[in-house]
Parts: sequence; C-alpha cells; structure tokens
Amino acid sequence: MSAKILQGKDFAAQIKESARKEVEELKQKFNVTPGLAVIIVGENPASQVYVRNKHKACEELGIRSENISMPETTTKEELLNKIDELNAAKDIHGILVQLPLPDAIKKDSEEILNRIDPRKDVDGFHPMNVGKLVTGNPGLIPCTPAGCIEMLDLAGIEIEGKRAVIIGRSNIVGKPMLHLLMAKNATVTVCHSRTKNLPEVTREADILVAAIGKPQFVTADMVKPGAVVIDVGINRIAPKKLVGDTDFENVKEIASAITPVPGGVGLLTVAMLMKNVVTATKLSVR
Ligand code: NAD
Repeated sequence: MSAKILQGKDFAAQIKESARKEVEELKQKFNVTPGLAVIIVGENPASQVYVRNKHKACEELGIRSENISMPETTTKEELLNKIDELNAAKDIHGILVQLPLPDAIKKDSEEILNRIDPRKDVDGFHPMNVGKLVTGNPGLIPCTPAGCIEMLDLAGIEIEGKRAVIIGRSNIVGKPMLHLLMAKNATVTVCHSRTKNLPEVTREADILVAAIGKPQFVTADMVKPGAVVIDVGINRIAPKKLVGDTDFENVKEIASAITPVPGGVGLLTVAMLMKNVVTATKLSVR
C-alpha cells in the first residue's frame, strides 16, 4: 500500500488562512499592521528566492514587509547598526537575517542573530527563545520544525506516546524538533553523524524525521512499515532538480504517510513564519 502524501500546500493554506484572520483582527482591534523586516546581505541566489517567497506570503496576508538588501561588503558593525534600528522601529514586529551570511562575516552569525530583540525574533533562533522552548514556555519557535508539528496536528496524526526518531541535531531543525515532539509526549531519539547502527534505530520510529542534508539518504530498509516520514531535507542534485533526504519513491511504498520534496515541509516553513510575525505583533500590543 502506498503512503498518504502530505502535501505542504494544503496545510500551508490552512495555517496562512488562520494567520490572515489574525492580521485582520489586529488591524481592527488595535489599529496595528504586522510588519516584517528581512535583511539580506550579498547576492546568494537561493537566498533571493527564499526572501521573495517570504515577501509574497506577507503580501497575501496583509502583513507589511520591508526588504533590506545590503551589499556583500557589509561589515558586522553596519549590520548590527541596522538591527538596532529595526529593534527600535515601532512598525516592525518581526526581524530576520537571511542566512547564510557572506564569508567575511559568517563567523559572526551568532553575535548578529543574538542582537535581534527576542520579541521580534521570528526565526526563533535567539537564546532567550531557545531557552523558552527547552523549558516549555511560550515563545517564538523555529519555523521549520514548528511547521512539521503543525502539519502532523492538522493531518490528525497522533504524536502522544509514539516513538519518534530524528536524524540530524542542528540548532535550526533537529534540536528544536526534539523539544517540540517531547512536549507533545512522544518518546524521542536524536541520531546524528556519529550514531552507530543507524538503520536499527530508525526502524523503531513511528514518526521518522530526516534533517540531514544528504540526498535520498533514508532508504526503505531504514523505515518501519506504517511509519510517518517527515522529510525536511532540500538537496539540489541538478540545476532544476530538488530531492529530499529520503528515497521517496521506495519509502512511500512502506510508510503510512510521507512529505514530498519539493512541495512538503518547505511550504510550511514560510507559513509558520507568517504565524510567528502575528505572534510577535500580539506580543507588542499586550
Ligand atoms: P545541518 O548540516 O546543520 O545538520 C545536518 C545534521 O545531519 C547534523 O546534525 C549531522 O549530525 C547529521 N548527519 C550528517 N550526516 C549524517 C549521517 N551520515 N548519519 C546521521 N546523521 C548525519 O543541516 P540542517 O540545517 O539541519 O538542514 C538539514 C536539511 O534540511 C538540509 O537539506 C537543509 O537544506 C534542509 N532544511 C530545510 C528547511 C525547510 O524549510 N524545509 C529548513 C532548514 C533546513
């Protein structure tokens, strides 16, 4: 039996529709229009596409968006000054710095991201928001893992009591995913590049999350029949061909549900960003 394909666009549309209603309500009740500022430094073509998609989503939902393009030669100080300016701006409720930064300031990425006011940190990367996630307090949560959880909820897939296995321990995906799944009462294992006997561990998963960054890494023999497979990976294997971290064609014959790449988790990431902008705006009117 072939798996149910969890189409990102269907879930993203639901998330965006509820965000759109909240934007409307914020305008009516508080006379506030949510505002997102996206800083992009340099000319990275993939980043340009991601940023365009974010602005497009803002436009759809009635969120004001500001694009701040800074040259490749921007110094750390110039970028920090721009963040300070946006932290103080009353009409900006969410700030994000598109990664990766150019090589000359890449090593300063953490310091730069930490300069964003945690109440405007719509990527959820600030240590204050990370701490809130770990301690189970409401804050701004990284968009990609938050989108995966929202999708499982919207698809009616039970998490409580399930055995979840995450492959990947990055700060952006793997680690926040651990806390989100644990908060939903799953029993979670996090695997990484030093994990021994990986297929043995992944075969125990009722919910398997792949966030590795290696094309078609998860093969059918690593998946328990009937498992739900969430593929976070985005890998370009040819100029116009993207694949996930899962061998989709073969794994879909075994799994009960699976996200495609493209068209899966990626679309949820942008939708959750919109939700985070709404949450940040609500924080500002409280
Ligand atoms: P990362 O490179 O920071 O982390 C990769 C993780 O995979 C590491 O923790 C590493 O330990 C683990 N890993 C590497 N090789 C392994 C192996 N052989 N066995 C087991 N584990 C191994 O990557 P990331 O930022 O977490 O991103 C992962 C993937 O998700 C990438 O393809 C990225 O493009 C994609 N991504 C997608 C979205 C989205 O919006 N859909 C957002 C963020 C990242």
